[in-house]
Amino acid sequence: MRRTLIAGNWKMNGSLAANAALLAEIRTGLSGQSCDVLVCAPALYLSQCADLLAGSDIAWGGQDVSMHASGAYTGEISATMLLDLGCRFVIVGHSERRAYHHESNELVAQKAKQALSSGLAPIVCVGETLEQRELGQTNQVVAAQLQAVLDLLDDVAVSGLVIAYEPVWAIGTGKTATPQMAQDVHAFLRKQLDNRGVEIAEKVRILYGGSMKPENAKELLAMVDIDGGLIGGAALKSSDFLAIINAA
Ligand code: PEP
Repeated sequence: MRRTLIAGNWKMNGSLAANAALLAEIRTGLSGQSCDVLVCAPALYLSQCADLLAGSDIAWGGQDVSMHASGAYTGEISATMLLDLGCRFVIVGHSERRAYHHESNELVAQKAKQALSSGLAPIVCVGETLEQRELGQTNQVVAAQLQAVLDLLDDVAVSGLVIAYEPVWAIGTGKTATPQMAQDVHAFLRKQLDNRGVEIAEKVRILYGGSMKPENAKELLAMVDIDGGLIGGAALKSSDFLAIINAA
């Protein structure tokens, strides 16, 4: 049975003071939740997360990682650095990185591989643009994004993946995929994982992301192949984030 994962993606938001308040509110607001909880903070604030979340039920993770292990890559952050700060997860291939930093499927795959080989679980984001959806290319796009990652990984590594289906048109727009639209893509991705064995496909968590909020979380999370959420805007407000956690 896959355990639901509710992951917040803070993006480039926060400050020492604002993070301290948000983390304290989430920490005190949790009570008997039946899911895993994660916050993906800007790298500069991960040591603050480590300090404030130690001993809690909340994990913390990065929003990006270098494909390289170490060396002359100015500005990059390695998987071992994230591990050093207690991270267990890292987002890779978020659509904002694909769009604004021109990250290709192959680069995202290298990042996922580097994360896994260092002991971090990569949350690999896949998703189509509105134009691609309207052209009927959704499955083709997400399949290519996932296949680039699968091609680099052995079966053990594939079992350590988390996938996030995030339709680009739903991110930060207030538009959400209907539960059935999301379920259809999640089922399609799980079928693709099936090529590596049913046990692996049944183990990998596939999160939905794209304007998930308290009002729609329950319905989305009720779908059989939706194993959690990757949450942007609503993760910055403790009451919304906690409501989503409670809906899981
Ligand atoms: C995201 O950034 O991954 C995301 C899903 O954002 P939002 O929830 O704001 O749409």
